Amino acid sequence: MSKRDPLVIVGAGLAGCVLATYLGRRGYPVEVFERHGDPRDAHVAKRPSLNITLCKRGISALERIGAQEIVLRAAAVAYGRKVHALDGTVAYQPYSNTGDALFSISRAALNDVLLSHAEAQPGVRIHFNRRCAQLDLADGVAHFEDTTTGATNAVQAERIFGADGAYSSVRQHLQKTERFNYSQQYLDQGYTTMKIPPLADGRPALDAGAIHIWPRGQRMSIGFPDREGTFNCSLLLPYRGAHSFETLRTEENVLQCFQELFPDAVGLVPGLVEQFFSRPPNSLVTIRCNPWSYEDKVLLVGDAAHAILPSYGQGANAAFEDCRILDQCIDECGGDWYAVFREFEQRRRPSLNVLADLCVEHFVELTEHVADPKFLRRREVERRLEEVYPDLYQPLYSMVSFTSRPYAEALRISRLQSAAIDEIVLIEGIERSVDRPEVRRLLSQSLRDTSAA
Ligand SMILES: Cc1cc2nc3c(=O)[nH]c(=O)nc-3n(C[C@H](O)[C@H](O)[C@H](O)COP(=O)(O)OP(=O)(O)OC[C@H]3O[C@@H](n4cnc5c(N)ncnc54)[C@H](O)[C@@H]3O)c2cc1C
Repeated sequence: MSKRDPLVIVGAGLAGCVLATYLGRRGYPVEVFERHGDPRDAHVAKRPSLNITLCKRGISALERIGAQEIVLRAAAVAYGRKVHALDGTVAYQPYSNTGDALFSISRAALNDVLLSHAEAQPGVRIHFNRRCAQLDLADGVAHFEDTTTGATNAVQAERIFGADGAYSSVRQHLQKTERFNYSQQYLDQGYTTMKIPPLADGRPALDAGAIHIWPRGQRMSIGFPDREGTFNCSLLLPYRGAHSFETLRTEENVLQCFQELFPDAVGLVPGLVEQFFSRPPNSLVTIRCNPWSYEDKVLLVGDAAHAILPSYGQGANAAFEDCRILDQCIDECGGDWYAVFREFEQRRRPSLNVLADLCVEHFVELTEHVADPKFLRRREVERRLEEVYPDLYQPLYSMVSFTSRPYAEALRISRLQSAAIDEIVLIEGIERSVDRPEVRRLLSQSLRDTSAA
């Protein structure tokens, strides 16, 4: 490869920083362009952030570039979820029997750490306040506007990577090319964020070793701990109808909604009404496109290629995994970028399409079923099966969150095993003991089916 022109990355968000580090470590000159100012600069206004959870597949990708430790140092550890019922009872659901955990961190803090890590690579330079305004796909030229002066400049790139998020400008240029497929699907709900600070004596207001969920059908709140004992909550409401962003217009409406739906949380959120009205709701969207690349010139990664609902907590994890797998493809295909891009898409797109579907399904599970006794019984049986038969059974959630198994393979195994689980949950007294010959037989049979299929 010629060292003359740099690899250009549009977007210094989560995917952009990790990709820059991977490519920088290979010795490529990498220029990253970010439309916003440097968030680490004290003079730059802080944008609202939310908490995200990282799991095994995201962390493995960070480990490869030496970023695991600095990221985990800034994260809180959650070993399970606590489900808050309307009557005030709280049920704890551990994520696994073997101490698997999710790592909760604010997206802003994560981005700061990853920016510094990327910049520490000798070949990587990050330019802030540079918005990608135009792309000349065939020649590999990207045009950037300086958002502080309005001046524009053109950068000749060896390759261009679109890591510019769900509303990617790079993807918009690909959309104008021949036979480009694109779809977007908005959820009927949007979200806003609120904070539960620690108590006056400094203790966290809730158990800081768990993610807290208040499922109320189409409405839901999720509280993510941070290292300082604050909970960053995402409040999910429909855009229209009762208790929706459309109808919650006054202080009374908001308080009444909280008292009806989240009574045990009301006293924990200081300035609840002010927090609620402090910013407009954000929408949630699933975006799919095909292809993710233009010849050997342009490639999309992260949300730019595949924005998904946050129900499985996988968007950033999947974006980091994109970077790890792209790095593998570069290894395997040598200097042939055309082959690298094809191989990457072939490995990733089927899995990400599956993940997008899973996120929609899991969203229904989180909002509707997570407090349903039948659903909880099935989950408890699955947890016991995983405990007693670790060689024969792993629930889908664990395969997604605590392994690096491709998403499509995890779903295939889970679908084949679910018939066995349907039979097992019907066994009288199964919740008291799963250690029975017929259970082992059913699980072994389903596992044989998964290897045969
Ligand atoms: C409510 C919610 C909860 C979530 N929870 C989780 C979770 O628990 N776990 C998880 O793994 N994921 C979670 N996610 C998803 C995760 O936040 C995203 O998948 C992740 O941020 C994607 O990273 P990205 O770098 O592709 O895009 P982004 O993080 O959006 O970064 C894109 C960057 O590109 C820049 N940019 C955009 N346009 C331009 C342009 N024209 N020129 C230059 N720069 C540009 C942007 O300013 C931004 O810095 C959640 C998302 C939401 C909405």
